[in-house]
Amino acid sequence: MLIFDAHLDLAMNALEWNRDLTRLIDEIRQRENGMTDKPDRAKGTVCLPEMRRGGIGLCVATQIARIEHNAYSPVFGWRSQEQAWAQTQGQLAWYRAMEEAGQMTQVKDAEGLEKHLRLWAEPPPVSSSSSAEVSTGFEDEEDRKPTLPVGYILNLEGADSMVTLKHLERSYEQGLRAVGPAHYGPGVYANGTDATGGFNAKGRELLKEMQRLGIILDVTHLCDDCFWEALDLFSGPLWASHQNCRALVPHNRQFSDEQIKAIVERGAVIGAALDAWMLVPGWVRKKTTAESVGLKLERMIDHIDHVCQIAGNARHSGIGSDLDGAFGREQTPADLDTIADLSRIPAMLKARGYSEEDVASIASGNFVRFLMSAWS
Ligand SMILES: [Zn+2]
Repeated sequence: MLIFDAHLDLAMNALEWNRDLTRLIDEIRQRENGMTDKPDRAKGTVCLPEMRRGGIGLCVATQIARIEHNAYSPVFGWRSQEQAWAQTQGQLAWYRAMEEAGQMTQVKDAEGLEKHLRLWAEPPPVSSSSSAEVSTGFEDEEDRKPTLPVGYILNLEGADSMVTLKHLERSYEQGLRAVGPAHYGPGVYANGTDATGGFNAKGRELLKEMQRLGIILDVTHLCDDCFWEALDLFSGPLWASHQNCRALVPHNRQFSDEQIKAIVERGAVIGAALDAWMLVPGWVRKKTTAESVGLKLERMIDHIDHVCQIAGNARHSGIGSDLDGAFGREQTPADLDTIADLSRIPAMLKARGYSEEDVASIASGNFVRFLMSAWS
């Protein structure tokens, strides 16, 4: 079953974590043994071969670069918007390099989406003569399979890198199809997680320009004030790419039932995330372990199910794992080794009584339907 992951910081991992995502996960981990510059060293869960192994054939992949703003600095920020822009352009260059290598393919319209889905539904056979030229990402000759390019839809997480609105238009031409106006704290255009207050004048202009260009609004990370304002100011398609439920784990980063209801009414799809602190209450970074609180992948199904209960159907829920989003196995469910474990989600949903059709919708169908409609 095809799995759609609506949030992965692939280029950030390649360029800031120095991970070659075309390599096998064991190799990526081994290369990081002994490194201490980041808490998730040698604990990564994402690479392209593991995505293929788990059937994650399509994802929303980020460009991400925030700037430091006032006194808020729990997460890294660049000193200027120009630097942030350059960083995101470097990230784009990595995605382009992956396209050239046949490892990934950019999906930016309905036609391309259909074509990519067909490719994954019916992968071309490997003939013995062609297999030699196909790079698989697998070292083992016996493991040789056709390399299916992983499809990605380009998303910008936090709009600080948009030096001007002209940069947004330029980005659209580069394939950017979704934007979350803010990330953590106050941003250039909007207020994100842990911050308060609505959009400033520039932020309102940003939303207008996004709507004109047909860019999807990602409401994830908007603070409550901006969230509610955005619903009034923006009438285009919106989703919450990596988002869990406040009713299950209280925090301003999570959405209340009221917020979930409001975006469901707007046709949104909500991707459930796998960052441990968003799954169980009371998680303390660098202290709590998945083993100590019995955190398993099954907990993610609680958040998916909660969204489905609010919606009254299974048409607004999906997966936005955020795996390797500056955390690794030290902050994920105990029974998750790599991103390929997302392929266990369909069986877990079935065990909860979800129909075959609903399971397929949550695995990928809902986000695919959303994109087809947004791009029609
Ligand atoms: Zn995020």
